[in-house]
Amino acid sequence: MTAANTSARIPATLIPGDGIGPEIMAAVVKILDTAGAPFEWETQQGGMAAIKEGGDPLPPVLLDSIRRTKLALKGPLTTPVGGGFRSVNVRLREEFELYANVRPALTMMPGGRYENIDLVLIRENIEGLYVAFEHYIPIGDDPHAVALGSGVNTRAGCRRIAEFAFEYALKNGRKKVTIVHKANVMKILTGLFLETAREVAKQYEGRVQVEDRIVDACAMQLVLNPWQFDVLVATNLFGDILSDEIAGLVGGLGLAPGANIGANAAIFEAVHGSAPDIAGKGIANPTALLLAACMMLDHIGRNDIGNRIRAAIDATLHQDKVLTGDLGGKASIAEFAQAIIRRLA
Ligand code: NAD
Repeated sequence: MTAANTSARIPATLIPGDGIGPEIMAAVVKILDTAGAPFEWETQQGGMAAIKEGGDPLPPVLLDSIRRTKLALKGPLTTPVGGGFRSVNVRLREEFELYANVRPALTMMPGGRYENIDLVLIRENIEGLYVAFEHYIPIGDDPHAVALGSGVNTRAGCRRIAEFAFEYALKNGRKKVTIVHKANVMKILTGLFLETAREVAKQYEGRVQVEDRIVDACAMQLVLNPWQFDVLVATNLFGDILSDEIAGLVGGLGLAPGANIGANAAIFEAVHGSAPDIAGKGIANPTALLLAACMMLDHIGRNDIGNRIRAAIDATLHQDKVLTGDLGGKASIAEFAQAIIRRLA
């Protein structure tokens, strides 16, 4: 009997996604099964695959499934350009109030520009400048003469993400939270974020250290001395930019997982997109999605299985040296997955 058969099954929604999504998802599911992950998958199509089936990239049946399971592993979804479709990822965040985006950056491949990076960015996912309150003001014959956009931060939203960041730090044995803002210029919009996060920090005095950084200085410090950081918490736009920067510190998108955690559900995914340039070739790196699945295992309290998979990834990359093309190797998805499975056996 495998470990999977001995533990209670946990229903979870599985969205293979577009482009490289189905290929890397198949490999990840195989590895999860081998490791004894207790998920009972409900497979649902989203993105282009769902548009082909019913015209909607986020069909009601997919949303119903996540509403039921409150847990999803998601492949990358392509939002069609034009055609009036809103970003499927933004819709998912809003639908399930996925207010916290968790992006760990951990050095897995030595020999890159930086060694021993181990930091986590917590990005506010719903508010800020991404609410897209935007419009043009026409002047004369130019309909786009002026572009206007505003952001929205609420005290409740700022408190919720700050509390999430400090709780995350406590639970994961982290020492420090850095509040990232631009309150010197955007005094109200990001000033409220800074003020509220500092208030929250007081409740954690003596348990988690706190500091704050202006976003531009923080971006430079991340390049000059990333080891000074531990957990960073940022508003939506700054978090989006910094999270790609920290993925760059640890060797790029193929190794960067992310979690979107909310009041009503948690959705785990790779940071990268559907990589149309390599889709269908069987050469993509499934590690980022696999690491996202490990975060999902942590989320349900099965860190034991997550850590076993992480150790297998480490051994596959460093001892067996089975690497996909993005990391300078020649392994196919299938060969890479097989190598991990050998390590898990
Ligand atoms: P991308 O992340 O898909 O690709 C950027 C580059 O990284 C490409 O050269 C690609 O080949 C490479 N790459 C990405 N993932 C890889 C992997 N696992 N292994 C090896 N190489 C990998 O970004 P893009 O090209 O800007 O976006 C393509 C599509 O994905 C767009 O439609 C975009 O909207 C969508 N997208 C979706 C998500 C998501 O669902 N969370 C995130 C980002 C982009």
